[in-house]
Amino acid sequence: MVGAFLLLAAISCGGEQATQPAGRKATPEFDAASAYGFVKKQVEFGPRVPGTPAHAACAEWFVKTLKQWTPDVVVQEFKARAYDGRPLDGKNIIASFGKDKKDRVLLCAHWDSRPFADHDPDPANHFRPVMGANDGASGVGVLLEVARCLSLGEPAVGVDIILLDLEDFGAHNNWKGASENSWGLGSQYWAKNPHRPGYTARFGILLDMVGAAGAVFPREGTSLYFAPAVVDKIWAAARALGYAKHFADRESGTLIDDHLYINQYARIPTADIIDYDDSRASGFPESWHTVGDTLDKIDRNTLAVVGRTVLAVIYGEKGPVDPGKAGRMLSTPRLKL
Ligand SMILES: [Zn+2]
Repeated sequence: MVGAFLLLAAISCGGEQATQPAGRKATPEFDAASAYGFVKKQVEFGPRVPGTPAHAACAEWFVKTLKQWTPDVVVQEFKARAYDGRPLDGKNIIASFGKDKKDRVLLCAHWDSRPFADHDPDPANHFRPVMGANDGASGVGVLLEVARCLSLGEPAVGVDIILLDLEDFGAHNNWKGASENSWGLGSQYWAKNPHRPGYTARFGILLDMVGAAGAVFPREGTSLYFAPAVVDKIWAAARALGYAKHFADRESGTLIDDHLYINQYARIPTADIIDYDDSRASGFPESWHTVGDTLDKIDRNTLAVVGRTVLAVIYGEKGPVDPGKAGRMLSTPRLKL
């Protein structure tokens, strides 16, 4: 019985491959050390606070780095206003792979650092910038390594990686005025003005704070509201890789993050992979919005868990279904046992 079962499995796999020309492709190996190096490099610029030389230099480095892996890199410059009315210049950086493919997946993370550590235990730090090793650089580090992998073997779908700016310029904790929609200024801009007119994608994945040791990602409420099938897809891929410890079965409250605006305005179902736990004081890791969000909080293994999950999702996507071929697949003769 076992022998027959294995034979059947082997033959049916071969048959599927032969009848699905746009099927699964081999997944390149995510290199945890390389991803960590990309986080470290960002941190070495200093806090990437909009309007600072560190921010400008890091944006330049992203473009140069991404251009090693794809010629299709676009910088979307935009103007925005902070919660207190100050004008801000933002840069969303978009790298596309397989840019002529209609079926696409969107990956994103914010790259800016928060200008104020307003949740630091020491009030003296409340107007000092956050380094953003985890809150910013970790998600981008994973996506840069994903970009490198994408250059090694194309998946069946096109992929757009968007490094979003101005996520973390939201109202200071002491601010008494209006603060609605003061977070995610880069995603708000992009979702209303996509880099290509009429742009859409099958779905999106946002990474935010994906670098801490032992990070656990809940099925986050906003993602479940707008994109439950995307959450299921990501969590199934993670479990298949043995990462159930990091991708928890529990649900969390709803968060305001870049995915909210991509869901609301661009109407692309997008899920957030974020280190969040309702039972913590802020919900976020202890270093969140403190001067302690530094490179020593970053764990290579967590970066790899997230990166490998994202790659499994992307390379698990099948290309567009060709109705003619699908019809032939149904009539493929079955092995007689
Ligand atoms: Zn933040």
